[in-house]
Amino acid sequence: MTDFSQAHRPRKALGQNFLHDPGVLAKIVAAIAPQPDDHMVEIGPGLGALTRPLLERLKHLDVVEFDRDLVARLRTGFPPDRLTVHEGDALKFDFASLGDNLRVVGNLPYNISSPLLFHLTEYAERIRDMHFMLQKEVVDRMAAQPDTPDYGRLSVMLQARFRVAKLFTVPPGAFRPPPKVDSAVVRLAPLPPEAIPYRDAKAFAEVVARAFGQRRKTLRNTLKGLIGAEQLQAIGIDPGRRGETLSVAEFAKISQLLR
Ligand code: SAM
Repeated sequence: MTDFSQAHRPRKALGQNFLHDPGVLAKIVAAIAPQPDDHMVEIGPGLGALTRPLLERLKHLDVVEFDRDLVARLRTGFPPDRLTVHEGDALKFDFASLGDNLRVVGNLPYNISSPLLFHLTEYAERIRDMHFMLQKEVVDRMAAQPDTPDYGRLSVMLQARFRVAKLFTVPPGAFRPPPKVDSAVVRLAPLPPEAIPYRDAKAFAEVVARAFGQRRKTLRNTLKGLIGAEQLQAIGIDPGRRGETLSVAEFAKISQLLR
C-alpha cells in the first residue's frame, strides 16, 4: 500500500487537492459500483485515495498520473500486476491504447477539466461510462439546459454525445488542502449511435463554437459567412435567436446545412 510516512507537498499547478473524507470516498465508489472484471482507468490517482477502494473491488486498474514523485509512490505502493501506472499527461494520453468498454474515473485537476473532457469525447465510442469529481460550477455547466446562464459550448458538446447526470456535491473540507470552491460528482454515459443528433461532428462543433463565441449576438450575426439567415428560416429557426436558446437537436439541425 502507499507509504504515507513521507509527506508529499501538494503541487498547486497540478491541481493537487487530495481526498481524505472516507464518507465521500464511499459515496463515490457506491456511485461507480465497480465489478471485478470492469476495465477501469483512473485519471490523476495522486496518493491513491480512490485507487485503493477501487482496487479492492477490481482485478486490475490502469491509472494515468503526471507527477513523477506520485508515479514512483504508486509503483511501489500497489502490486504492479494489478495496478498499471502510465506516467504522462492525460490531455495527450491515447485512451484507445487501453482497448474499449472503458470505465473512466477521476478526481480531476480542475485547471484542465474542460480540455480533458473534450479530449475524452474523442474516445466516446470506446467508453462505457465516466465518473468525475469536478468543480461544482463546471458540473453545472455540463448539465445545463437551454435558456439558463450556465448553458454554453460545454453543455452542448457533451450532451450531444453523453447523458450527463450530476450526482452529488462535495464541500472543500473533504480535501487536503481544501480547494476554494465546492465540488460535485458527475456521471457521463455515452449515447447510443442512433441517439447522436448530428451527422458531421466537425460541422456541429463549428456551429456551436460560433454561436457561443459571442454570446449576446444573434445567430444572424454569429453564423454570418457560414450560414445565411434565409437558410435558418427555411429550417424553421428564427435567425434573431441567440445560441443560448437553442436545444442540442436544433444545433444539430443547423449543422446539417453545412454538409
Ligand atoms: N485522485 C486523488 C485524490 O482524489 O486524492 C488526487 C486528485 S488531485 C485533484 C489531481 C491529480 O491529478 C493529482 O494527482 C495530479 O498530480 C494529477 N494531474 C494533474 N494534471 C494531470 C495531467 N495533465 N495528467 C494526469 N494527471 C494529472
